[in-house]
Amino acid sequence: MTDLHRFSIRALSEGLAQAKFSSRELTQHYLDRIAKIDSQVKAYVTVTAEQALAQADAADTLRQTGNATALTGIPIAHKDIFCTQGIKTTAGSKILDNFISPYDATVVAKGKDAGLVTLGKVNMDEFAMGSTSESSYFGATKNPWALDHVPGGSSGGSAAVIAADLAPFATGTDTGGSIRQPASFCGLTGLKPTYGRVSRFGMIAYASSLDQGGPMARSAEDCAYLMNVMAGHDAKDSTSMEKSVDDYVANLNSTALKGLRIGIPKQYFNVDGLASDVKARVEESLKKLEELGAILAEIDLNMTEAYVPTYYLIAPAEASSNLSRYDGVRYGYRCDEPKDILDLYKRSRSEGFGAEVQRRILIGTYALSAGYYDAYYVKAQKVRRLIQQDFLKAFENVDVIAAPSAPTTAYKIGADLTPVEMYLGDIYTIAVNLAGLPAINAPVGFDQNQLPVGLQLIGNYWSESQLLSIVHQYQQHTDFHTQRAAIAEENA
Ligand code: GLN
Repeated sequence: MTDLHRFSIRALSEGLAQAKFSSRELTQHYLDRIAKIDSQVKAYVTVTAEQALAQADAADTLRQTGNATALTGIPIAHKDIFCTQGIKTTAGSKILDNFISPYDATVVAKGKDAGLVTLGKVNMDEFAMGSTSESSYFGATKNPWALDHVPGGSSGGSAAVIAADLAPFATGTDTGGSIRQPASFCGLTGLKPTYGRVSRFGMIAYASSLDQGGPMARSAEDCAYLMNVMAGHDAKDSTSMEKSVDDYVANLNSTALKGLRIGIPKQYFNVDGLASDVKARVEESLKKLEELGAILAEIDLNMTEAYVPTYYLIAPAEASSNLSRYDGVRYGYRCDEPKDILDLYKRSRSEGFGAEVQRRILIGTYALSAGYYDAYYVKAQKVRRLIQQDFLKAFENVDVIAAPSAPTTAYKIGADLTPVEMYLGDIYTIAVNLAGLPAINAPVGFDQNQLPVGLQLIGNYWSESQLLSIVHQYQQHTDFHTQRAAIAEENA
């Protein structure tokens, strides 16, 4: 079969169950596409062809002996932030180039237990800091919709492999939008779960109080399948929640659109820099949801102006602490011929970290330093609480909150935004992480350059099923999620 890359996860699962094709054939099909097409997209940092085929054969045996899960034998790509035993994990950084983890991240281990086949590891902004995937030591990944544009970031490789049909779905992480924004830029569905829903064990830390892994795929249904694998308590992550996990696939129709109250924050639609095409497509999608029975209501989120300054203190502060472990001593990059231990630290870190990571370590260290801790870090934590309360107040009157995922469509590669311009692009996503809430991106159309636009729906805590269900039903009445970039139509 030559069109296996066009199958939904449900169709792949059924095809494997009915032995219409084997996991080996499916895996080989993706490996062939990667070999032919990834040189244009540059999304894979590591392709694990040999291991993938071995996993595929094992999956085929499980299928034959009746011991398969729904996903046994289906390929996946992992963001290169999830530790993979025996396979290089770089986090997009020179400092971890050639780092091979002695263990699997919980998310990766759960994937293996479910029978998923790992195609490889995909590119990302260095340590997940960025919105374009250009800060990767391994170079820029291309947006499959327009190869001179970025796929977004930091999970840009995850988004690009799905949009180019080089993997049926992928893992991502979202500290301040890194699942939702690349999903938006590449016309995909991506879910950032409630903080604590998905284990962070073995997920290389950026800002630990904000980091959360989640699924990226074409549709809400595909995401639901992956969420069933990723979600759940993990004793190895002290912030993972002991709370029963929904069957996200079974719940895809669990939320009635009729009567669903969708809040539209006034402040969000008056942001400077919100592109008119983005605004128009998002408004059209809300109209569609209204036609399907939802009730739209304007709401206030008064803390909007505080999002960017608050996030860009807390995230770098935590990053500066987390990244202190890369010292050139225990693992990772070490400079040549250090004179003494201080020289070893200094040069290993200066040579091993890229410019954006160094900028954030400097900001974070400054914000945490003795004289400034109260003025910056403590104050940002207080504002963080106000931002959370703002959302909780809104949820007294509405079920979900609608917003764009990003103010613009994908940037051009090399657009060379200043750091502040880049940070302002995170306005719609970062408050969700500060509050620990779940949110989803759904593709809702294209701008005048045929670049995808995304709608974001923010839910109350633990409402992942509800968000997936709303988007699933929207996707039963629209076809944005099934449209493909030209490069995805190329056959291997
Ligand atoms: N663009 C944001 C940042 O650079 C988000 C990153 C993320 O979610 N990992 O911090």
